[in-house]
Parts: sequence; C-alpha cells; structure tokens
Amino acid sequence: MPGEKNRLLRVTEGLVALIQGFWTTFIHLFRKPITEEYPEYKRPLPPRSRARIILTRDPDFEERCVACYLCSASCPVSCISMQSAERADGRRYAAWFRINFSRCIYCGLCEEACPTLAIQLTPDFETCQYDLLTLVAEKEDLLVDHGGKNQEYNYYRYAGVLVDGDKGGHIQEARPVNLKSNLP
Ligand code: SF4
Ligand code: SF4
Repeated sequence: MPGEKNRLLRVTEGLVALIQGFWTTFIHLFRKPITEEYPEYKRPLPPRSRARIILTRDPDFEERCVACYLCSASCPVSCISMQSAERADGRRYAAWFRINFSRCIYCGLCEEACPTLAIQLTPDFETCQYDLLTLVAEKEDLLVDHGGKNQEYNYYRYAGVLVDGDKGGHIQEARPVNLKSNLP
C-alpha cells in the first residue's frame, strides 16, 4: 500500500540521518581539540596586531614624541589630546598626552601619521575595564622605556640636522639623480 510505503521510507530516512549524526559525533571524539582555553592560554598575536597603544623612546632613551599633533589630527574619533612644550635646547615634547581608549577604534591611523615612530599599537589586547573612566590613559600610562617595533630609529638623526658635504651623504639618503643622464 502506498501509505505504508511512504511511512517506511520516512522511518528509514530518519534512521539514516540519526546514524549520520551519531557517526559525526563519534569521529570527533578522536580528533585533537582545537579549542584554546582563554585566559589560561593566550595565543601570541602577530607583532603588527593593533591593540594597546604606547609611546616609545629613542635609542638615547629620550621621548620620541615631539607633540606635533599629527596623531591627534588623524584620529577619526578624536580620542587623542595633548599639550606641546619645549625644552631649553629647543626640543619639543608633550607636557601631557592623553588617549581615551573608550573611544579608540584601534584603526592605527595615529601610528601611520606619526613622523617619529613615537606612538605605536601593540598586540596587547587585554584592555577591558568595567569603569569607563579607567580607560582614559595619561602620558605616564602610555610611555614605555623601549623603542617598540623599531629600537634603532632616532628622528633627530634623520631630520632637522645640518648635513655636511654633498647631497646624498646623510643616513639612508639617496644620491641625487642626474636628470641629464636620462636624456636619449
Ligand atoms: S588607533 Fe585610531 S582611533 Fe585609536 S587613537 Fe589611533 S587614530 Fe585614534
Ligand atoms: S605621537 Fe607622534 S604624531 Fe603624535 S604628537 Fe607625538 S610625534 Fe606627533
């Protein structure tokens, strides 16, 4: 009878689906687990990951930041503020420097804009807080005692210095091109 046949077919299909489901569960019992138990295990992130922001120092242990405001101007959410000041020898620095991490979207534009490599994003992503006000970081919270991703770079050795000798003699400066050498 057709009704009896259809019922038998549905029962068979149901049984097959059930066995397939159990089989899938069974074979996963013998697979290596891929779950990472955070926070017991913290996966090391690539150095270029964009999380906690720091202010770095140059190899002379001076603050790299010259308070040029470029990071502040490039920040799409306006969460960086500072006040510039000048030392007796003419070197500029930030009298205070503040980042409101509750607004930061970790886009990295401040790092891109910085001419001195002072401001850098790091892979440290554990920045969550219950109290929003604790997410406002001052200069003393941001300033570290190393150079971050580039330990060697010192802005003052590249820019704003009087160079003796011919053009192209400065650190990593390309020799001038003789345009006439390109003429046919
Ligand atoms: S990472 Fe982006 S949002 Fe955060 S401070 Fe820098 S520019 Fe602003
Ligand atoms: S962190 Fe960089 S871009 Fe921002 S004010 Fe300092 S030197 Fe300028």
